[in-house]
Amino acid sequence: TEELLFKSDKLSAVGQLAAGVAHEIRNPLTALKGFLQLMRTDNAKEKYYIEIMQKELQRIEFIVNEFLFVSKPQAIHFEVQELDSIVVSTIELLQPQALMNNILIEVELAPELPLVTCDEHQLKQVFINILKNALEAMSGGGTMRIQAFPSEDQKSLCIRFIDHGCGIAPERIPKLGEPFYSTKEKGTGLGLMVCYRIIEAHDGTMKIRSKLGEGTTVEITLPAMQGHSLVSEPYAG
Ligand code: ADP
Ligand code: MG
Repeated sequence: TEELLFKSDKLSAVGQLAAGVAHEIRNPLTALKGFLQLMRTDNAKEKYYIEIMQKELQRIEFIVNEFLFVSKPQAIHFEVQELDSIVVSTIELLQPQALMNNILIEVELAPELPLVTCDEHQLKQVFINILKNALEAMSGGGTMRIQAFPSEDQKSLCIRFIDHGCGIAPERIPKLGEPFYSTKEKGTGLGLMVCYRIIEAHDGTMKIRSKLGEGTTVEITLPAMQGHSLVSEPYAG
């Protein structure tokens, strides 16, 4: 079993440069999208071409946005949240993709999970990216598990995504989280980097364990909110 604990900033000087380029691409992209929307035709073939162009532009936009997200510090709006609802809404979002691939998502949420201070939107992005990777790895279908439980000392909350997909070769594990590192034909190789950034901003950790041909486990730990531990504090007043 190989394990990776993200701890270093992986956006190199080259990455910074690419971020600058990504930013410059945005304006012409907006113009292209706008003019494409104005194009009208009754020719079926041309309609089809326009559709393809729109899809490809959407893809460029997605990559550019994802890259800008990791290269620029994002404003975080911290709020006290229940993690259960964020996990559940993430699963709902990706349930269609799971069903299509014959994947059953089992959820094990410990009762009375501690609250966390987090940016709900950003944390959801992390869960989506990890869950998507798990679904994409399980091309043959099967069951994957998502667990959430408090750490033994009640100081943090762990969320685990366990898949039985293709797994990751040991020599590839150190590459995870590097910008553009992807083994997928249509991958951006930015998903895990986004996750790492967000979790770091939450003072959490993200660990990836994997075995080729057996599956992958991603474990996220987030600091739990004090005073909302599983066992209620004795009243001292
Ligand atoms: P992308 O999904 O666009 O390729 P990511 O940053 O999300 O980019 O993931 C980078 C790479 O890490 C993937 O291309 C894949 O090789 C590997 N990976 C990530 N999660 C998993 C997983 N659950 N199972 C197997 N491989 C994974
Ligand atoms: Mg991904």
